[in-house]
Order: sequence, then C-alpha cells, then structure tokens
Amino acid sequence: MAGSARLSGKTALITAAGQGIGRASALAMAAEGAKVFATDVNDDALSSLTDPNIETFHFDVLKQAEVEAAIARTSPDILFNCAGFVHHGSILDCSDADWDFAFNLNVRAMYATMKAALPGMIARGGGSIINMSSAVSSVIAAPNRFAYGASKAAVIGMTKSVAKDFVTKGIRCNCICPGTVESPSWHDRVTALGKELGSYEAALEQFVSRQPMGRVATAQEIAALVVYLAGDESAFTTGQAHIIDGGWAG
Ligand code: NAD
Repeated sequence: MAGSARLSGKTALITAAGQGIGRASALAMAAEGAKVFATDVNDDALSSLTDPNIETFHFDVLKQAEVEAAIARTSPDILFNCAGFVHHGSILDCSDADWDFAFNLNVRAMYATMKAALPGMIARGGGSIINMSSAVSSVIAAPNRFAYGASKAAVIGMTKSVAKDFVTKGIRCNCICPGTVESPSWHDRVTALGKELGSYEAALEQFVSRQPMGRVATAQEIAALVVYLAGDESAFTTGQAHIIDGGWAG
C-alpha cells in the first residue's frame, strides 16, 4: 500500500468484523494502508475477508482470556469496538437476563478491551479508540429499544470518561452514533417485525420512514467515519459522540 494512504503504518483491531459495519470498516481501513486484525465469533464470515492487509482470527469479546490474548497478539494503535446486539422490547419485555446480556456485550466488553489495550497504547505514545454507540442512546429514543438504548448511552459516557483521563497520553477515544444501517442483523430485525405486521414491506416502510432521507445508511458510509476517527486527520477530536444518522436526531 502506498505510503500516502491515510492509515499507513497503523495497526487496527476490530471486533465483530465478520459482517455489517465492522466488516466494511475492516475493508476501508485496509484500503487506507492499515494492518487490520478483523475478528468475530463467526469464523465463516471471517473466512471471506481475503484482503492482503487483513488478518482474521476468532475473538469472543465476552471472554476475558480472549480479550487479553487479542490485545497481546495485535498491539493495536486503533481499537474499533464494534460488537453489539439489539434487544427488541420495552422495559416490560426486558428480562434480567436480557438486560445483563445487553450490558455485557454492548458495554462491559468495551470496558474490557479498552482496559487491556490502554497500557500498550500509552507505552507506544498514543492510540485511537472508537466505540460503537448508536443514535438510539442518550441522543434519541426509538420504540422498543429499552435495553439497547440504555446500553448505548453507557457507551457514550464510558467513551467521554476514557477520553478525559488519557487526553495527555496521546490517546483519543470517540464513539459513533449511527441511525439505521443496512446490515445482516438489521435485515433480521426487519424480517421479525414483518412477521408482526404481516409483511416484510410494511416493516421496511416503518424502518425507512423514521429516517428523514427516506433511506437507511450503508455500512460503507459508517466505515468512512471510522477511518476518519482512526487516523491522524482527526487528531484534534476526542471524547465526542459522532452522530451519523441521515438527519434522524436533527
Ligand atoms: P451485525 O449486527 O449484522 O453483526 C454483528 C456481528 O457481531 C456479527 O458478525 C456477530 O457474529 C458479531 N458478534 C456477536 N457476538 C459477538 C461476540 N461475543 N464477540 C465478537 N463478535 C460478536 O452488524 P451491524 O448491524 O453492522 O452492527 C454492528 C454494531 O453497530 C453493533 O454494535 C450495533 O449495535 C451497531 N449499530 C448498528 C446499527 C444498524 O442499524 N445496523 C445502528 C446503530 C448502531
């Protein structure tokens, strides 16, 4: 890759890179010259990532031993915490187990990877951490996103706290708050709602109608923001929740 590429010389670790935004970000970072470690629990999905700048391995962010091994193996300059899960339902639909799973995957796993990555980043003189939040968080609410919205709001608070504490150590920590993005799990959510509403098309209309642009985002549109936050172009940006939502929250 040419030396002028925007992420040349940097090493990135991405969680949940098998599909959706994580995958698009792995490809976009690799195209900008980063050495990318693309990880997921879905080995089949990883196996189709064949870019020469991308190395893949199985990494379950819920397992502490795997967190430590992943950081030790990759020594990342860029950590993109993308793994997350959407629980569907209001507070009355949310079991204790649903709440714990949402917070373990959407929040605790990021706490674990950041805590493991920070000492190495500080020792190497800096790093960029990007956490996946959502517009559905402390930014706005959406119906039936109780545990999801609470957990993604926690991501924003955690991001700001890490940014504040390590700003003098060369560490930047930002999060991304997308509106609805086309991805395999989003298609699953449309299919599930379609069963409730009687047709896939009715469900699609409900998702699309809440987006003022009349369409959802592509994963590549979110990946472009990830590349910006990963690289030195965004060197003066830290502790921010970057909303990329097609005007939903505006
Ligand atoms: P997705 O939901 O389709 O894919 C998620 C990936 O996470 C899968 O490849 C899955 O194997 C992996 N994964 C699940 N559990 C894991 C674990 N324990 N360890 C490692 N990987 C695991 O992808 P997406 O829709 O692009 O979502 C990615 C992130 O973006 C999530 O955090 C999601 O909350 C967030 N987000 C998505 C949207 C959207 O509309 N798609 C909007 C805002 C935020």
